[in-house]
Amino acid sequence: MTIKKLAYVLMFLSITSIFAVAIEHTDPQTYVVTSAEHDGPHPPFVSSSRRLLAPPELPDAPDEWIDHSLQWVDYILVNYPPEVQEFPERRLALYRLDEILHIQSAPEKPLVQAFYKMRMERAIQDIERTKVTHGMRIWKLYNDGFVVRTPSVTFAYDIVPGPPTFSRGPNGAVAFGRVPGFSISQEWLHRLVGQCDALFISHQHRDHASKQVVAMFLAEHKPVIAPEGLWSGDPKFSKLTYPERSAELVHEIRIKSGSEVLKVVSHPGHQGKVLNNVNLVTTPEGFTVIETGDQSGQPGDFAWLSQIGHYHHVDVLMVDGWAPGLHRIVRGVNPEIVITGHEDEMAHVVSHREEYGQTYERMFGLHYPYLVMTWGESYLYKMPTATMGVLPDEN
Ligand SMILES: [Zn+2]
Ligand SMILES: [Zn+2]
Repeated sequence: MTIKKLAYVLMFLSITSIFAVAIEHTDPQTYVVTSAEHDGPHPPFVSSSRRLLAPPELPDAPDEWIDHSLQWVDYILVNYPPEVQEFPERRLALYRLDEILHIQSAPEKPLVQAFYKMRMERAIQDIERTKVTHGMRIWKLYNDGFVVRTPSVTFAYDIVPGPPTFSRGPNGAVAFGRVPGFSISQEWLHRLVGQCDALFISHQHRDHASKQVVAMFLAEHKPVIAPEGLWSGDPKFSKLTYPERSAELVHEIRIKSGSEVLKVVSHPGHQGKVLNNVNLVTTPEGFTVIETGDQSGQPGDFAWLSQIGHYHHVDVLMVDGWAPGLHRIVRGVNPEIVITGHEDEMAHVVSHREEYGQTYERMFGLHYPYLVMTWGESYLYKMPTATMGVLPDEN
């Protein structure tokens, strides 16, 4: 063997040994992304198995970075509102928002609280100013809260002032509240309630149901449609409306002092053992929307969930971005468009603060037009034909 050949052999051996080392270090162990409560096996660079597809979060960040980021996020969202053909920077803005809101202490940060309140108050002003002359405008407020307005009616789903808190006093007494500084004020809530003709509550969990908000609707003699038995022991809430939970019954809910009617089907859903009404509402114009609350289901629920699109033409489906069986739900409802909800619920611990990035992952491969919206954004849904031809496989 010549010196030259020997050099080649040595070079080859050293390259293969480098590869061997590299392969050893990147041995692709498989991990499973979990969506349920339980954390599963995960590598040390992520905080839980739920977060395998999200960039690792920072435990904290400088105020300057948070401040500039939130201002930039707002700038992008204001200038590029939600559309089915989404402007790419919107996704960057929502990812950046995820990063900020996944700082464990984000709910207590004054910059984050100010951003939340600014976006909510601006949305309420927008609702006050907006007259819908055609189609249906849908605002997404906090968490799973939505306001739907058509030319004739306005109704809301799951409105709460902000993230709920739960604490135990020294004597063991449980205290329920809202994160101080992260709530819409009483005055702004009044203005919001004043704009709505009815409220639908999916289930009892406090990120969907607020006694403060419900009391305001009832004080204005506006119907609040709730799952059977919600706060039934409390005489202050004796005027709640409990439609019979059924996939077949169509209830007529009179609103605006009886001058208009909403047709309502309160599908008998569940989140575990908790009753979760999947409320389908048809407006006087004939638009139909459905909001699924925290439908996570009992096994039998898909018997009716998978049939909704067969019995109703649904214009807009509002569904948790992390709902178990999300694709099955969407295909079963077969809506013209999907709007996801319940991202970045701030009362949840970071590993369970399901983010916008996760919604994009979950919606991947589902060939339905969809919108990922954040606090205070709105979308004008026109007629079904307006959404046709915008996805590559529809052209
Ligand atoms: Zn819930
Ligand atoms: Zn919830």
